[in-house]
Amino acid sequence: MDHPARLHRLLFELERRKIDALLVTHLPNVRYLCGFTGSAGILVAASRPVFFTDGRYSEQSRAEVQGARVVIGKGPTLAVAAQHISRSRIVRLGIEADHLTVALRSQLASALGKGIKLVPVSGAVETLRMIKEPAEIEAIRSAVNLAARLLKPLLRGIRPGVPETTVAARLEYMARRAGAEAMSFETIVASGPRSALPHGVASTAPIARDGFVVLDYGVILNGYCSDMTRTVYVGKPGEEERALYRVVLEAQLAAITAVTPGSPAGEVDEAARSVLKRARLAKFFTHSTGHGVGLEVHELPRLATRQEQVLQPGMVVTVEPGVYLPGRCGIRIEDMVLVTERGFEVLTPATKDLIEL
Ligand code: ZN
Ligand code: ZN
Repeated sequence: MDHPARLHRLLFELERRKIDALLVTHLPNVRYLCGFTGSAGILVAASRPVFFTDGRYSEQSRAEVQGARVVIGKGPTLAVAAQHISRSRIVRLGIEADHLTVALRSQLASALGKGIKLVPVSGAVETLRMIKEPAEIEAIRSAVNLAARLLKPLLRGIRPGVPETTVAARLEYMARRAGAEAMSFETIVASGPRSALPHGVASTAPIARDGFVVLDYGVILNGYCSDMTRTVYVGKPGEEERALYRVVLEAQLAAITAVTPGSPAGEVDEAARSVLKRARLAKFFTHSTGHGVGLEVHELPRLATRQEQVLQPGMVVTVEPGVYLPGRCGIRIEDMVLVTERGFEVLTPATKDLIEL
C-alpha cells in the first residue's frame, strides 16, 4: 500500500480547502494514511507529516509508519501533538469533525493558544478511502472469501432449539481458527419472529422450529472487513414464504445490476425499492440498500434514497435489501460488490437459493 501517495492526495485536498494541516485522530484514517495499526496515535497530516504515539507503540510505529516522522511522546499524545503544532507554521488546523470529541476539541484549543484556528473538516480522508487500490481490493477479497467459506459449516450447526448465541459463537470460533483478526461487527443471528428485526444481534433465544433465520456477519483480515447476509429457512417454507424470498432476491439482483460506474448511488437503492414497490412490500424495507466497506465495515458511499455520490471504479459496496414483517418474519440478502470499469463484480461467492435446513 502506497501511504505517501495517499498523504499526498490528502494534502492536495487540504490545499483546496485552504487548510495547513489536518489533525487525524480517527484511527482507521490514521492507518489509511500512514500504516499504523495500533490503538493510540495521532497523525498531523501536513507538508511534513508527523505521527505521534506513546512508549507502548515505539517499536510497532517504527516498523509500520510510512511517509511520516515518528515522535514517541511522554504524556498525553494530544498534548504532545499540540506542542508540535504550536511550534510549527500551521495557522489553520483542520480537525476531524465527525470523530473528535467535544472534550478533546476544547483541550486542544486551550493547548494551542490563540494564533491557531481550528477548522472542522468532514469526510476528507473518508472520500479518498472510497476508491480502493488494487492491494486493498485483494485484501477485501480475502476477507470476503474467508467469511463465505464458513457459511456451510455454520449451517450445519443450525437446528431448532439451539440458542442463537451458540450459532454465533461457533461461527466466530471458526472465523478465528481460519485466521480472522476479529469479526467486522456483532454477528446477527435472528430466528423466527426475531428475523423481522433488521439488526437482530444473536440473543439467547432458541432457533425456532419453523421459520427464517437471518445470518449477517463479516470478518476482518489484514485490516479489511467483509459483510454478508444469507437468510435460510429452518423447516419447510410455505408458498408465501417462498414468494417473499423470491421478491427480496429479485430486488437484490436488480440493485446489483444497477451498480454502474458513472451513475449515482441513489439509483442502486431505487432499483431495489422499485421491485419491492411492485410487490407492495416497499414499506417493509426500512433501511438503505448498502454501504461502502473497507478498513471499516460502514464507509462511504451510502447507497440510499437520493444519494448523488457517483459510483466509480474501485468502490466496494454492499447490496442488501430486506423485507421485515413485524412480529412475523424478515429476509435480507447481502453481497459485496466491486464497481469495475464497465459495471460490477459480485465478490461474495455464496449461493442465494433459499436453503432449507
Ligand atoms: Zn451485513
Ligand atoms: Zn452491510
